[in-house]
Amino acid sequence: MSTKYIFVTGGVASSLGKGIISASLARLLLARGHSVTIQKLDPYININPGTLNPYEHGECYVTEDGAETDLDLGHYERFTNEPTSQANSVTTGRIYWSVIQKERRGEYLGETVQVIPHITDEIKNRILHFGQTKKYDFVITEIGGTVGDIEGLPFIEALRQLRLELGKNALCIHLAYIPYIAAAGELKTKPAQHSVKLLLEQGVQPDIIVCRTEHKLSDSNRSKLALFCNVEKSCVIESIDAKSIYEVPLMMRAEGLDVQVLKKFGMKPKNDADLKVWSAFLKKLYNPKHEVKIGLVGKYVELQDAYKSISEAFIHAGTSLNCRVKVKWIHSEDLNDKNVKSQLKGLSGILVAPGFGQRGIEGKISAIKYVRENNIPFFGICLGMQCAVVEFARNVLKLRNAHSSEMNENTQFPVIDLMQDQKDNIGLFSGTMRLGAYDCFLKEDSLAKKIYKKSKISERHRHRYEFNNSFADAFKNAGMVATGENSSGLVEIMEIPKHKFFIGVQFHPEYKSTVEKPHPLFVAFVKAAMSN
Ligand code: GLN
Repeated sequence: MSTKYIFVTGGVASSLGKGIISASLARLLLARGHSVTIQKLDPYININPGTLNPYEHGECYVTEDGAETDLDLGHYERFTNEPTSQANSVTTGRIYWSVIQKERRGEYLGETVQVIPHITDEIKNRILHFGQTKKYDFVITEIGGTVGDIEGLPFIEALRQLRLELGKNALCIHLAYIPYIAAAGELKTKPAQHSVKLLLEQGVQPDIIVCRTEHKLSDSNRSKLALFCNVEKSCVIESIDAKSIYEVPLMMRAEGLDVQVLKKFGMKPKNDADLKVWSAFLKKLYNPKHEVKIGLVGKYVELQDAYKSISEAFIHAGTSLNCRVKVKWIHSEDLNDKNVKSQLKGLSGILVAPGFGQRGIEGKISAIKYVRENNIPFFGICLGMQCAVVEFARNVLKLRNAHSSEMNENTQFPVIDLMQDQKDNIGLFSGTMRLGAYDCFLKEDSLAKKIYKKSKISERHRHRYEFNNSFADAFKNAGMVATGENSSGLVEIMEIPKHKFFIGVQFHPEYKSTVEKPHPLFVAFVKAAMSN
């Protein structure tokens, strides 16, 4: 079968959940035995979201091959269980970067380099690339932003050209918001109609309209949308607010999104997509037998999207244990040695979040001191692990003012430090980061080994600083041991064996947790919290 291309655009407003709709459709097609990948095209000029403020864009998600991407790629992986890569995340910045580099190398042979065709060709190549690999039956390409955005124009133009070139092998799903006017007690389809008009002005007729709504669409809403947007009525799909994003694949199946897609491609859908595992997950999610309260100490707690993969990993792990994990978001800047006891009261476990920079560091250290001394389950991720090392150095090893050299370049005891080759390369953003998957070897008799049940694991990284091995013996003798190392001897895991559950990891396990494969570290941590 030749690769089929599905484009997903958005209209009326942003944040409608194009990522969730794309991921849900992928889940349904996978369930029918097809191979699928999902790609995100982001119209902003940053080369990648690595440099974006999490307050604005939420978490930066990292793929196996070390791409720093939009958080939607996290949804793709959590829903599909399939790893994504550099090629699945494309920004305007990256497109221009490669066009300009080609221009400098003289590859355009004196042509005037223009948005059409050079930029649009570059975009098209990034999409068609997946077909050339012959690995996928379906490529779902989500276009970030909303139709009508100036910066999105080249992407919509590339989509217009591709539909012409690919003919029956391409289709467009448009996701639009249907507002409810409370005073009139009515859903209004006009804004969605207008967003389709905008798309038409740019030469793209959508094949399917997915309607984001807080109320059920009436038959007449559907008829109106079909008539004015020029689509079949069966291709008007309702996407009503759900209690959990994990319900959306089931809702899309009930609305027949996958069936309409297959029909449009001239394929004959047999039976329903098999979502047995998915439905079982949802049933457990909605009917928990236990509940546990866990504190997440971080500095972006006002915007929970900044820790998206962590909160989703708690949902996966908790559900596998029939347990609802209630996360209390604790602002690290509000924490200190005096109030930590009352702030952490009633919590059965504490996770200290990843992050960069000085803000909120001392609060994280106060939280760790408290849970270490009071035998409360602790899980530190990346900066969270580094803070645990600093806390131990200061309060157990009595190394006064020990710190990470990220926070204090001149500390006498840089227990977390840069490696020499990084010191030589400082200045370039992302340039010196350890990004993507690395193997890690686990020590016998460690908690980590017990949890993973194997000696060699692979996890994803996104950080610059590392545990400073010259302190390893001092830590070990005082009771904090390195139990995971990579092949170059960098420390990846620290544990306190005497503690009930105390583990800090330099990598980001949350990126690999999916509905079907909850991450073992999260499962073990939730279990420890449940029995606390
Ligand atoms: N800022 C720390 C480092 O760069 C930790 C990064 C993180 O938590 N992702 O090493």
